[in-house]
Amino acid sequence: MLTLNLETAWAEFLDFVKLKQSIVEYTNWLQPIRILKSTEKGLVLGVPNIFVQEYLLENYAKEMANFFPPSNDGSLPLFFVIEEAEETVAVVEEEAPSPTLDKEPVFDLKLNRNYTFEDFIEGPSNQFVKSAAIGVAMRPGKTYNPLFIHGGVGLGKTHLLHSIGHFIHQNNKKLKIQCITTEAFINDLVEHLKSKSIDQMKRFYRTLDVLLVDDIQFLQGRQNFEEEFSQTFEALINQGKQIVITSDKPPSQLRLSERLTARMEWGLVANIGVPDLETRVAIVQHKAEKKGLNIPNPIAFFIAEHIFSNVRQLEGAINRLGAYCRMCGMDVTQELVEKTLSEMLQFVPKKRITVESILKSVASMFNVRVNDLKSTSRTKEIAFPRQVAMYLAKELINDSLVKLASNFGGKTHSTLLHSWTKIKKQMENDEKLRRQIIMTKQNLEI
Ligand code: ADP
Ligand code: MG
Repeated sequence: MLTLNLETAWAEFLDFVKLKQSIVEYTNWLQPIRILKSTEKGLVLGVPNIFVQEYLLENYAKEMANFFPPSNDGSLPLFFVIEEAEETVAVVEEEAPSPTLDKEPVFDLKLNRNYTFEDFIEGPSNQFVKSAAIGVAMRPGKTYNPLFIHGGVGLGKTHLLHSIGHFIHQNNKKLKIQCITTEAFINDLVEHLKSKSIDQMKRFYRTLDVLLVDDIQFLQGRQNFEEEFSQTFEALINQGKQIVITSDKPPSQLRLSERLTARMEWGLVANIGVPDLETRVAIVQHKAEKKGLNIPNPIAFFIAEHIFSNVRQLEGAINRLGAYCRMCGMDVTQELVEKTLSEMLQFVPKKRITVESILKSVASMFNVRVNDLKSTSRTKEIAFPRQVAMYLAKELINDSLVKLASNFGGKTHSTLLHSWTKIKKQMENDEKLRRQIIMTKQNLEI
């Protein structure tokens, strides 16, 4: 009785999700889930990969708890099993038979082995595009086609493109995948034109199941090549073959023919943005871990705070740090980071900072009023943030101590100096204070 109820609940849950979700989303994420077993303890659900399970738990935890009442310890009566790749292969093959030629040229699938979905750290700036990429990889040609990924330099476009390639290849060895940079495509064309074997190349491209093209912006201003690319593109799309394109700009901003631009906008255009601080910290930690490098949390934070516009640079910093530590047999310390990475660290151009702006920023960080900081109150709740403000004033404003001190309710310059020394010392051992001060500074400088 109970097990039957669970199956009904699952069906009802699916009906509920169907109403909330777009068809594509539903088919991508929910449809592949199968009930493998229904036991007294709960439902055993088969998922094609870990991403489907994560998607479900991240997006529907609350709703699932309504359909499947949690036990006393809060766990749901749902268990996930990742089904073997073979099963997925069977499904994909059934849906998308791939024309295989008898004597097709043997070609390398040139993918960077570090560029996998597992190694791609997710955050608000790239969640959407990662999920679209996984969707495409799970059902090539059946969801977003083409998938167009755009964003600035070093933000993970190539990483995602290769992840799609790996994923499809792992799940279905028979699918013909070509992952190529636009430059390599052009070079290939030139070579084949020279050796008068262009037909062979055309044939090769048109029998692909998946075409992954990196950096399409390099097609701009190359009209002959653009024409050739457009034809390949259309031939593949018309056969329902998957195309994924990356670019530094969205299609509408590329100087390409209207026709090709429109084609590229057919599927899904997804932006990949600059990761926020938290995601950057996670990236630093992940990359360091993979290199066997131990970076203490506050230092990972420091690096992520000061290298913020480009993940490639962040990775470069870890590599450099790793090499240095190995060479000198040293641990990662704040000092070492500042020394080895000095020219990589970015500092936001400073706005003109005034005592007034410091007071405001400190007041909001410590939850007190600006007027209290200016007052003569000696209660700890006020006196401490006031000392922090004095510390920051001396650190950030190039003015005489006497003048600075006069802004703090007529304090003397020696009081200011005393506060500065005290806070500076305390920061060495008080991680919370150090962070509070970094954040206050950041608020001032933005
Ligand atoms: P793009 O192609 O956008 O210029 P890449 O894909 O080459 O950028 O990424 C640059 C480097 O940063 C790569 O080594 C990649 O692994 C890494 N990277 C970028 N974004 C992420 C992320 N979200 N998680 C992990 N590594 C990332
Ligand atoms: Mg790239």
